[in-house]
Amino acid sequence: MLADRTRRIQPSGIRKIFELVAAMKDPIDFSIGQADFDVPEEVKEAAVRAIREGFNKYTVTQGIPELNERVMAYVRERHGFAPGASLITAGVSGGLLLSYLVLLDPGDEILIPDPYFIMYKVLADLLGATALCYDTHPDFRIRREVLEHLVTARTKAILLNSPANPTGRVFSGAELRMVADFARAHGLWVISDEIYDAFVYEVEYHSVSEFHEKTILLSGFSKTYGMPGWRIGYAVGPPEALEAMKTLQQFTFVCANTPAQKAALYALENDCSDQVKAYRGKRDLVVSMLGDVYDLIPPEGSFYAYPRLPDGIAGADFVKRALQDKVLVVPGTAFSRHDTHFRLSFAARDDVLERGLALLREQGRRGPRRP
Ligand code: PMP
Repeated sequence: MLADRTRRIQPSGIRKIFELVAAMKDPIDFSIGQADFDVPEEVKEAAVRAIREGFNKYTVTQGIPELNERVMAYVRERHGFAPGASLITAGVSGGLLLSYLVLLDPGDEILIPDPYFIMYKVLADLLGATALCYDTHPDFRIRREVLEHLVTARTKAILLNSPANPTGRVFSGAELRMVADFARAHGLWVISDEIYDAFVYEVEYHSVSEFHEKTILLSGFSKTYGMPGWRIGYAVGPPEALEAMKTLQQFTFVCANTPAQKAALYALENDCSDQVKAYRGKRDLVVSMLGDVYDLIPPEGSFYAYPRLPDGIAGADFVKRALQDKVLVVPGTAFSRHDTHFRLSFAARDDVLERGLALLREQGRRGPRRP
């Protein structure tokens, strides 16, 4: 008999779409959560060099010192504050698991956004903790009264994700200050997932770490440098939490991928402004081709758009209809209790993006009438 948690936790809805894609000829895949560009050449070279030079053993648990120093310096330059400690993790996913492990006992509660990246909920379930959703619909902003309504004596942490998956929202300094105030008032930790921090379009970008000391900031290399398969990320924050995460890393991941740690040093030196500019162009294309047909909040960051479904159609039916055109999108129900939106990733080649958006535009125009 397998453990109860195997029955509590179902495979991700997005994985099902991945399986569909694998079986399709020439799909227009807007379901994917990874950049369409490849790893920069010098970063690839650095990884190959590291493997050839014998960097294939374990590293120290916290990751090689030069990468930790570089990450600390990067965060200092970007956000203007000096984190107390850092840890190189097995992707942001690794950082998320370790953060949950060090903050949540069984029965504890964590506040997560709705819509949310699915892992935020599943990790709580795994640990016997409860994830309570703070609803950000309809404009995907955080409201203090919603947070106050949910918080209890068992609440230990609040999770923030900005730029957000799936909505593309970037929280303003004022919003983050409000969350910091709320967290302070209730003695909460903040886990801040900033994996899309490179993809910010026009708006000003802040980390909640600037306003709240008890923050574990998670970010990494998967999205920014097109290397999600290399499984490398980082966590920074107060030594109290980071030391505990390091201890638990010893007994779980052991260390992050060794050659990828060497290569990540070069990744951080890489100027990715051209990629970000290209993604801003893709965002603009989405807004110009879908904005007058769908109710769509223009994404301020990440590479997702989250349009409202046409009136009177369920997400699953809309996704099926789009599939008839070979366009793959994800129903909002994969991220939310509300069946009101769908997610499209615009991390696709421009010609593919244009073709798919034209088809989605048609779908939106048809509304609920087509059987
Ligand atoms: N957080 C968010 C919001 C994500 O969208 C993803 C990837 N889809 C992750 C974390 C996981 O990132 P990593 O590949 O670094 O584990």
